[in-house]
Amino acid sequence: MTQSQQDFYNCSYPELVEILERDFAASKFRATQLFEWVYRKGVTDFSQMTNIGRDLRARLEQGFCFPRATVHDRQISQDGTRKYLFEVDGGDLVEAVMIKQASRMTLCVSSQVGCAMACGFCRTGTMGLKRSLSTSEILQQVNGVIEDAKSFGDSFSNIVFMGMGEPLHNFDNVARAVRNLTNSIGYAMSPRKVTVSTSGLVPEIRRLVEEKVNVSLAVSLNASSDEVRTQVMPVNKRWPIKELLAAVRDFAQGTRKTVTIEYVMLGGLNDTRDDMKRLVRLLHGLPVKVNLIPYNDNAGLGFNSPTRDWVFEWQRHLNQHGLQAFIRWSKGADIAAACGQLATASKRQRPSRLPVLAGEAQAAA
Ligand code: SF4
Repeated sequence: MTQSQQDFYNCSYPELVEILERDFAASKFRATQLFEWVYRKGVTDFSQMTNIGRDLRARLEQGFCFPRATVHDRQISQDGTRKYLFEVDGGDLVEAVMIKQASRMTLCVSSQVGCAMACGFCRTGTMGLKRSLSTSEILQQVNGVIEDAKSFGDSFSNIVFMGMGEPLHNFDNVARAVRNLTNSIGYAMSPRKVTVSTSGLVPEIRRLVEEKVNVSLAVSLNASSDEVRTQVMPVNKRWPIKELLAAVRDFAQGTRKTVTIEYVMLGGLNDTRDDMKRLVRLLHGLPVKVNLIPYNDNAGLGFNSPTRDWVFEWQRHLNQHGLQAFIRWSKGADIAAACGQLATASKRQRPSRLPVLAGEAQAAA
């Protein structure tokens, strides 16, 4: 990449149209062709873009670059889950996980290096925020996994922003990545299959609707009372449960989408019978489904896992009271796809740059 080159992956389609018109005297049609070559066909070599004139191709080659994140490490679980540690600009390391489920594969990507939200059950939360990823660095994780998946003969059907970082704390870059992922001449994914997961940034949930970012929403609730939620998720001090659920309702009404409520079950802390009943009352009448995520106590953060029977009891209770509830058991246990063991291994080798996957990512989707 030379100083004058622009990172192609940082451009939305309208931005590319503008750049082509302004800097290359090229029409909107050329932007469409470029998007199709790069995102639909995976071609980044201008010499292969044969439907674009030779002179323009030469100038575009001077003007754009296509950076790649390098795979710093990869681990594969017996259950088919694959965990990647990518090195992005400046040597920062971020994690992405391909989670194998019965009928689909879900790719979980990171949006920041570290995280400012400090959720108590999440290792990334102990790091603080180092920086937000650019749109390109987010899409480079996607591209890196697409490339690697060829050797496995598979691909992902869903993407969740549930790795390191709070995606709505990096709103503009995440929104641009979502737009490229769901653009019909981009990655052409269904907006139903791209999910942003938030710890509960109320203004940004509303911004998704206002700015028509067509994406599915998951909200990490993890408690049935403000007292416990503030204890495990400091963001609750700023936007308590009532305000958060009002934003969930507005999002659902504004987009006609069902919102996923994530509930990491922390044994004995937020999973009592009273919690179960309170959660039913809190969610009554909201267009939501619930993902119950049994905490993985391998994470070593001082919380307990609930028993399997108790998790099933919760699911039964929620279902009986009209709430769709699913259990998301931990995947990739043998490679510890949950919560940063890959990154921890890397930490021993490279003590200065230490990403750890977010707490809920083990149960993404
Ligand atoms: S759970 Fe998500 S929002 Fe909370 S600290 Fe971890 S990465 Fe940040």
